[in-house]
Amino acid sequence: MFAVTILGNNSAIPTPDRHPTAQVITYNDQLILVDCGEGTQMQLTRYKVRRSRIRHILISHLHGDHYFGLIGLINSLSLLGRTDPLSVYGPPELEEIIQLQLRSAATVLKFDLQFHALLPERTGLLFSEKDMEVHCFPTRHRIPCYGFSFSMQRRKRRLIPEQARVYDIPAAFFSRLQEGADYQRKDGTLVKNDWVTLPPPKGKRYVYCADSIYDEGLIPHIQGADLVYHEATYLHDLAQRAADRYHSTSVQAATLALKAEAKRLLIGHFSSKYTELEPFLEESLPVFPHTELALEGVSYLV
Ligand SMILES: [Zn+2]
Ligand SMILES: [Zn+2]
Repeated sequence: MFAVTILGNNSAIPTPDRHPTAQVITYNDQLILVDCGEGTQMQLTRYKVRRSRIRHILISHLHGDHYFGLIGLINSLSLLGRTDPLSVYGPPELEEIIQLQLRSAATVLKFDLQFHALLPERTGLLFSEKDMEVHCFPTRHRIPCYGFSFSMQRRKRRLIPEQARVYDIPAAFFSRLQEGADYQRKDGTLVKNDWVTLPPPKGKRYVYCADSIYDEGLIPHIQGADLVYHEATYLHDLAQRAADRYHSTSVQAATLALKAEAKRLLIGHFSSKYTELEPFLEESLPVFPHTELALEGVSYLV
């Protein structure tokens, strides 16, 4: 499974039923937390996300609606007895902010917190592990801000069991076949791997664009993605306000998805001034028909 679960879909000020930005990427039973606005811990509990499974936390930028929940979460993980290391990625000042808060409370974490600074000159591959690669790229916002791209590519080939039986290949050898090995039969004849397996399934890509003014410079990063999250802080009548504050509108998010030939678009980061979200969809759909609202508690398959 490769999915993103929305924990917070609001911008700066929390409302009773919408929270500042946070979302969790699930793949192979692993979790990556992307941004951690105020209230993220409560949202993790509400939607039964197992926080002990979070291996990486990515913080896009240092506006409070994207990280004010971080120190609380780090503190709780330690209180809950975590011993596995935790990687946190964010702008360099974040390390100092975390350490100041820990030091002021004389808190010594029970786990190793590994901090990785995001820098404009060091974008590109952040980390890769089994089947998953995470890249980062800069977005255009009022302060340094980064988007993240998650590519899941299964490496194992797909076995065709009926074919394997035709050649009398023992089940114990199936995992080797999935890794691409040929099979040598007892009589010395060789069974070529591609006679009994198919290539791995096509990879999937999710791109999170964080906060950004409308910027066609993002297109190369989201080109052809299976699912793109783009902020839509305002409806389009406030396009000027959006530009002044380095944010985007519903129509701009949809335009970018269209130009980048993305397959699906999720819009979120709604301003607290709106009580209804449907108008965001009504404005986006005519531009890009595969738009969905990012709703809290909902998991979207990539
Ligand atoms: Zn924001
Ligand atoms: Zn921001």
